[in-house]
Amino acid sequence: MTLHTLDQHRSSPTRSGRVTLVGAGPGDPGLLTLHAYQALQSAQVVLYDALVSQPILDLIPATVERIAVGKRCGQHSLPQAEIERVMLAKAAAGAEVVRLKGGDPLMFGRGGEEMRALRQAGIPYRVVPGVTAASACASYGAMPLTQRGVAQGVTFVTGHGKDGEPIADWSPYAIPGHTLVIYMGLKRAGIIQQGLLAAGLAADTPVAIVGQASQPGQQRVNGTLGTLTALADTPNLPTPAAILVGEVTALAEELDWFEPEAFQAPAASKSLNINLDSAAM
Ligand code: SAH
Repeated sequence: MTLHTLDQHRSSPTRSGRVTLVGAGPGDPGLLTLHAYQALQSAQVVLYDALVSQPILDLIPATVERIAVGKRCGQHSLPQAEIERVMLAKAAAGAEVVRLKGGDPLMFGRGGEEMRALRQAGIPYRVVPGVTAASACASYGAMPLTQRGVAQGVTFVTGHGKDGEPIADWSPYAIPGHTLVIYMGLKRAGIIQQGLLAAGLAADTPVAIVGQASQPGQQRVNGTLGTLTALADTPNLPTPAAILVGEVTALAEELDWFEPEAFQAPAASKSLNINLDSAAM
């Protein structure tokens, strides 16, 4: 599908609009996909979360209506039902809507709930994946998520359950030779530490915390499971941050490459002129 098709869609007032759930990635605008970029250029309304970085918001054309719906660590935000109500109302009125989310929309992003709301309302949608925080922490934090002979698998888990409560039993996640990436876990580092130790993971298991991965303020701190709580209390550790547990995190010192201050993000330029005619969307 070409962009011209989107324009035709837009000029037909009787037709319902469409929603594109877009992953904005972890912050570096150079990590946006071409589909994400093009969706932003052809949107009429963008509903965006607090985790979406300013350089990415700067890529949205000035004429596009922007609605901030996100929350950040308990600050005021629109309830999920209200976000869905606005999204559905805008699309039902015929708008080309982008629902812009940090990272990947289907990774701890409630993307599935929004797809269900759209399906139930009969509104067409598509989903553009984004680079999830675990990938950014690994790449920019210089730690592979898997490594032959070190970690044979990786698990992404949230430290924040449906009603905020963390996982009670960490035994399914206390796997030697495995990497664990814990999203939304910084404030619950103490409970996570206790849970993983109680489940049998060794206190000297290497861990890392990466804050603001892929952004100029990125910081990585390394320690062990036995010191995780103190590590999470590191002064001025930037957020959002993810916790990585496993032997791969001990490779970061050796493999380190990222210099946040010196790094020039290969930002998507507004003059990008890319032919997406052969692309699937
Ligand atoms: N959909 C997002 C995750 C949303 S949950 C994704 O795929 O990445 C929010 C959590 O993601 C944060 O609490 C943090 O643990 C993690 N996170 C998001 N962006 C991050 C970043 N740039 N660096 C480190 N962690 C990040």
